[in-house]
Amino acid sequence: MSTQLSFPIYFPNCQIIDCQHGEGGYILVVYSTDKQASCPFCQQVSNRSHGYHYRKPTDLPISDKSVQLRLRLRRFRCLNPTCPKRTFSQPCPDWLPAFARRTNRLAHAQQSVAMMLGGQAGSRLLTQLYMPTSHDTLLRLIRKWQPVGPQTPYALGVDDWAIRKAKTYGTILTVARWR
Ligand SMILES: [Zn+2]
Repeated sequence: MSTQLSFPIYFPNCQIIDCQHGEGGYILVVYSTDKQASCPFCQQVSNRSHGYHYRKPTDLPISDKSVQLRLRLRRFRCLNPTCPKRTFSQPCPDWLPAFARRTNRLAHAQQSVAMMLGGQAGSRLLTQLYMPTSHDTLLRLIRKWQPVGPQTPYALGVDDWAIRKAKTYGTILTVARWR
């Protein structure tokens, strides 16, 4: 059974074709709108379609339903007659890493919960939030986590202030603006 979505969900460079009720959640049928790609072997750009292939990653839930995508990507025929690769797959869009089973935004949400609660408790909470995953997967996401270092400020304000006048002073640094 299909459902017409009445609110926007954004998949850059893709179009939502259909929303179906699957087992325990929604299935969104999403087509890539890119009409050409470069051959990964010879870099020749091709727009000659040679069929399709599908990826089935999970995405953030909608309301109280989990979401799985049916993402359709193209296969292209390489136009370079000297290239040993006759056909190649269109690369995944930016929001889905190659070979990933979850979108970047879902991975970020699950990783954030895992960082706060760990694997076991995180897995239980994520099931309640319609983003179920195993505690082993959460541990893998924790290991992948890369802390964002502090940004270099564009300008710094420096001043001193008296904790006790003529006795003890402190220095204050104020970040004036981020670049
Ligand atoms: Zn090629």
